[in-house]
Amino acid sequence: MATFKAVVVEKTDAGQTVRLTDFDEKDLMDGDVTVAIEYSTLNYKDGLALTGKSPVVRRFPMIAGIDFAGTVESSSHPSWKPGDKVVLNGWGLGETHLGAYAEKARVKGDWLVRLPAKMSAREAMAIGTAGYTAMLSVLALERSGMTPARGSIVVTGAAGGVGSVAVALLAKLGYHVIASTGRPSEVDYLKRLGAAEVIDRKELTGQPRALSKERWAGAIDAVGSTTLANVLSMTRYGGVVTACGLAGGMDLPTTVAPFILRGVSLIGIDSVMCPLPLRQEAWRRLETDLDRGKIESMTSELGLSDVIDAGPRILAGEVRGRIVVKVR
Ligand code: NDP
Repeated sequence: MATFKAVVVEKTDAGQTVRLTDFDEKDLMDGDVTVAIEYSTLNYKDGLALTGKSPVVRRFPMIAGIDFAGTVESSSHPSWKPGDKVVLNGWGLGETHLGAYAEKARVKGDWLVRLPAKMSAREAMAIGTAGYTAMLSVLALERSGMTPARGSIVVTGAAGGVGSVAVALLAKLGYHVIASTGRPSEVDYLKRLGAAEVIDRKELTGQPRALSKERWAGAIDAVGSTTLANVLSMTRYGGVVTACGLAGGMDLPTTVAPFILRGVSLIGIDSVMCPLPLRQEAWRRLETDLDRGKIESMTSELGLSDVIDAGPRILAGEVRGRIVVKVR
């Protein structure tokens, strides 16, 4: 029997259990490419899956982990051959398809993106789904005509994964970045990443007004709820806001005023089912437009056995920047 190490989520009558165990290779799901996983990462959604706090896992037993970087071991897909370096984000990994906290995965070749030539597997997972989502958000701003000349961009949840990479990306692209954080201890960290200003997230958590004083040309929001409502109410005429997250809640207590009186656009960002060409563009841009030295400085590393305990910490907002998970 060929087995490999995996973090497996199971459901019993007593509730959910998670453990590092040996997984039988014959129980892998269908797919045309088998990948030897080198690195994964801890995202907010992984925290939800590991703790069972939200119904992220849709099939049991499930190997947790929503993204990986690794090397193709075998393939019957025309695009991939053994030895190819690949990245996978989303597509239901760790939710409906056996996931990334494992030494091996069998997946559809159509889900894979080639690891950029100048990027290591560890660097790709230091960026992870959080960083790739930050890049998708930047691409959405750009498609809406945003440029640094149009004004500043506020990033919410700035000391988190999506937020930290968004700050670093926008700063490198020449934007005046306003970072919103609830952690005063992270002000220096955010300035090192490139934030020109850091504001207390309390400024964005009060009862939102329909319209407030115009403060920024755009936003990358990872928080949702009253934070996003306040961000919208403070966005300048013609501004653009992207929404990818719900760290502060799933609701959105806003009015149509920012949209119909200031022509503000709100763009949704989904990384999971994002079409392949956009993924490829995002990873190309991550290769060229991100200061990877900055990312390394905000990255810590865990082993497969540590990831279970780290799940609750990311949900509690205690994780700064990015955590990579060394699988092998
Ligand atoms: P992190 O936990 O790393 O970052 C979230 C940050 O949000 C925290 O660090 C904190 O930042 C802030 N925050 C947390 N709780 C609250 C709160 N109650 N009120 C206001 N701010 C809060 O998570 P990620 O960066 O990995 O993910 C961020 C969000 O984006 C999550 O909701 C995640 O599910 C979502 N996401 C969505 C994707 C998509 O495809 N749409 C893909 C990836 C992520 P600070 O301490 O600086 O205030």
